[in-house]
Amino acid sequence: METLKNYINGTWTPSSSKETVEVLNPATQEVLAKVPYGVDTGLDVDIAVRSAAEAQNEWSKVPVIKRVQVLYRLKTLMEDSTEELAEIITKESGKTYGESVGEIQRAIENIEVACGTPILMAGDVIEDIATGIDEMMIRQPLGVTACITPFNFPSMIVFWFLPYAVATGNAMIIKPSEKVPLTMMKIFGFLDQLDVPKGLISLVHGGKESVDAILEHPTIKAISFVGSTPVARYIYSKGTANGKRVQAQGGAKNPVVVLPDADLDMSAKIIADSVYGCAGQRCLAASTIITVDDQKQQIKEALVETVRSRTTGYGLDRDINMGPVITAESKRRVTGLIQKGVDEGAKLLLDGRNAEIPGYDKGNFLNPTILEGVALDKELIRTEIFGPVMSLIAMKNIDDALAFVNSGNYGNMACLFTGSGANARKFRNEANAGNIGINIGVAAPMAQFPFSGWKDSFFGDLHGQGKHAIEFFTQTKVVIERWPNIWSRKF
Ligand code: NAD
Repeated sequence: METLKNYINGTWTPSSSKETVEVLNPATQEVLAKVPYGVDTGLDVDIAVRSAAEAQNEWSKVPVIKRVQVLYRLKTLMEDSTEELAEIITKESGKTYGESVGEIQRAIENIEVACGTPILMAGDVIEDIATGIDEMMIRQPLGVTACITPFNFPSMIVFWFLPYAVATGNAMIIKPSEKVPLTMMKIFGFLDQLDVPKGLISLVHGGKESVDAILEHPTIKAISFVGSTPVARYIYSKGTANGKRVQAQGGAKNPVVVLPDADLDMSAKIIADSVYGCAGQRCLAASTIITVDDQKQQIKEALVETVRSRTTGYGLDRDINMGPVITAESKRRVTGLIQKGVDEGAKLLLDGRNAEIPGYDKGNFLNPTILEGVALDKELIRTEIFGPVMSLIAMKNIDDALAFVNSGNYGNMACLFTGSGANARKFRNEANAGNIGINIGVAAPMAQFPFSGWKDSFFGDLHGQGKHAIEFFTQTKVVIERWPNIWSRKF
């Protein structure tokens, strides 16, 4: 099987590294590809940067209205190939076909919003800020930028950054997760058809070594990262220490509070979708469900009933609700964390550890698990499980629930289910998380809004998507000009 190539200087190029890792289908363990890995992938970054710098210089001089034309073309290419792309995403990441289509749609929405760059990147002018003096703020591109992404959204996450970077006049080097490189290979087939200078958008494979080369390369001005919190923290501290602009999104442990006045059936269904969608491998997956005393029993029953009816299987079989987790190692980790919860006193309302999917006995499948009464003073209550596991805990009232919500290290999302406007307003105001859902289970910001995250879920200032992305990929320049009338009259 041929090793995947990088896309550098507008050409499919073999990696400098001979080392590889296998890309496996998580449902079947079929080897889908071999991807370059190891120390020498760092050399590939340097080669990519050289052509990217030249291309960016040329591209930054192209008028913005012309630059966005390539995004319209990209949108059409993505739309026309949605089915094929979704199949690749499902094969390498395990998520269901419907989930794959959903992430492609969000990618396309980001392209659409970035088409507004001719307005979004406009600056400010004040004429006669002093007599005969005008002052303006203009936005200019940064230069060569890089984007490093996780396994769980092989297409969408790159688009929180790429269309904005390109539209504002930057070059970008993309380093996808080594677990799911095939989606980006397909997307680079589309990028190859765009009328941009060779080298403007490059694909470099690898793991930590190629990331370290990005962090150390003096020509790379900005890094957009999405992944786990320890790596996000590392990227932020090392990248900023090397003088780069960095936005680094990390992990999560998202709490959901259900009040007695919520519509229980609707809430149970939405919460189950949130917990078990993408097999729980979403940074916006609901993880800990907090009931308040007097409806604990009813919500528990509604949840168990809803969750029991969910089906697990191969993502390309259209009638299933949930696919496998990404690797055998990930399955072992999640299984171990369920046992840890039990050992620490939690009760198993549903145990998903012995999932048997006919025809897929080698797959990394887990069925939905519900743990009730996870100990509040133990580590598991704060650990990102990143698998199909719901933890149910009970609190006395909304104040205690809010105190629990705000006591966690992460701050990616917090949700409330209620029929009361006053409680919703209180929660929106007081919950310490960057994305809030009211009767919403996955509060994923649409492309116009920043993908906010707080606390250990985000390191940086400006987030991905929308106006934040435009600001991230541009630097402001203030110009003060004096052209007194009297000088004009002289000539
Ligand atoms: P990960 O941190 O293991 O990997 C992310 C990227 O970093 C990959 O490209 C990988 O090659 C690289 N990498 C891994 N280890 C590295 C190291 N030691 N040094 C340098 N680079 C390294 O994350 P993952 O397992 O692919 O993705 C799951 C995680 O991502 C979860 O924690 C999830 O919550 C998080 N995530 C967060 C968001 C968000 O918006 N906040 C979105 C999606 C996923």
